[in-house]
Amino acid sequence: MKVANSRAAACSPDTKWDPITKYRQPVEPADPGPIHAWLYSADPGPPIEGFLDRPTELARLRRWILGQHERHETALLEDDGFVRAACGSRVRVIYLHPFDTANVGVCPKCASMAVLWQTDPDEYDRQIKARNERWAKLDEERYDEDDLQRQESYGTDPIDDDEQL
Ligand SMILES: [Zn+2]
Repeated sequence: MKVANSRAAACSPDTKWDPITKYRQPVEPADPGPIHAWLYSADPGPPIEGFLDRPTELARLRRWILGQHERHETALLEDDGFVRAACGSRVRVIYLHPFDTANVGVCPKCASMAVLWQTDPDEYDRQIKARNERWAKLDEERYDEDDLQRQESYGTDPIDDDEQL
């Protein structure tokens, strides 16, 4: 099934040295790994990683990706930019063609979420919201744990918040 308002996507681009600009440029990956579904008109749900998933950034990247596609180019995001696939993975390679659940090598979670989105959008939204809230909580706990480890490594000294990590 071809999913409406979707694009096939992969996690990371390869990079290639450009002798003219002297920069490493992102290029389409030779081995893209599982193919995820970017559902560009679905509700992305609450942020998982508050700072990285902020809605203004998401809207900006969405515009940029769809703009690249109007120019018939695969959208390749640099390291600091990503959008979320239906399964929640961060994707940085967004192809021109729609996500098709029948293709080989598709992410099974994305396939089932994409079908759910087409058949029962309310249930899709509910599951995304519940998942994102669960992941956001885990993310917070992970940060708290990092703080605790830092505190322990410093002994009884207070953590210096100005420290550059
Ligand atoms: Zn996926």
